[in-house]
Amino acid sequence: MLEIMIDMDIFNGEELLKFTERFSSDEVCLKYLSDIKWNGGFECRKCKHTKFSEGRKHQRCCTLCKHIESPTAGTLLHKVKFGIRKAFMIMFEMSATTKSLSASQVAKRYGITRKTAWLFMHKVRKGMESSQSFPMEGTVHVDEFVVGGKEDGKQGRSYHSKKKKVVCAVELNDDEKIKRVYALRIEDFSAKSLRSIFTKHIDSKAQVITDEWKGYRPLQADYCIKQVPSDKGNNFKQLHIAIHQIKSWIRTNYSWVHKEHIDKYLAEYSFRINRSIFKDSIFHKLAERMVAKPHVAYLQIKVSN
Ligand SMILES: [Zn+2]
Repeated sequence: MLEIMIDMDIFNGEELLKFTERFSSDEVCLKYLSDIKWNGGFECRKCKHTKFSEGRKHQRCCTLCKHIESPTAGTLLHKVKFGIRKAFMIMFEMSATTKSLSASQVAKRYGITRKTAWLFMHKVRKGMESSQSFPMEGTVHVDEFVVGGKEDGKQGRSYHSKKKKVVCAVELNDDEKIKRVYALRIEDFSAKSLRSIFTKHIDSKAQVITDEWKGYRPLQADYCIKQVPSDKGNNFKQLHIAIHQIKSWIRTNYSWVHKEHIDKYLAEYSFRINRSIFKDSIFHKLAERMVAKPHVAYLQIKVSN
């Protein structure tokens, strides 16, 4: 996309009433999406022609091949059957206001089926997934944990437990407070599995600190990793706060999460936490991502059991 930005009136804030007043109809929402989608200029998806005429519902019609494209076509908001305004409301709630919405609550609140709500919420989580373009730098603490069922003791990490395993990394700011958090599901606690969070989210120059788990040792060849004894939770305080939050959030709202879906919930958690100092623009950021990311079909999201 070209970098020609027009002045678009970005929605800022976390106030529900302001949001509902601003996005009072499907029409307004589609205009907003069209401004995001074609902010860098129009290019026909079929023939690459750049001239267009505007059609109904903010569609654009290529003046050369007559292909018509809607603001939602090919995006994560493709074919939203229950109306784009409701979709905006759900996106706003999931990003700016409510931390813990279940698919059943959303279904009731917006008069849609639970399945429709579940699917759309997973699309929103897809939009929330990190671009991985800004790896964590500076001081980064890394640890692993399990979700679901009774916990293992800290020592002797089990390789074969049925519990879902997660590796979590926290980037600290100068005041030793949480700046950003990323977490990923892993198959086991081996170096091979632990490497995923390093590859995706940690800069090779970051100063990483872990406990003395041997799984981190082989990674020292590629990353700057310092291992320190875990002082019964007295060190790694911020990391343990993040882990505690993630666990209790998943336990409270999604008591049973299929392992295939855990990463989506973790992406949702990170998206909100990592933008907590830019809360005002969180909805807009999400809307941009929903437009930039390609459409996913139900079957691509549904777990094949
Ligand atoms: Zn065309």
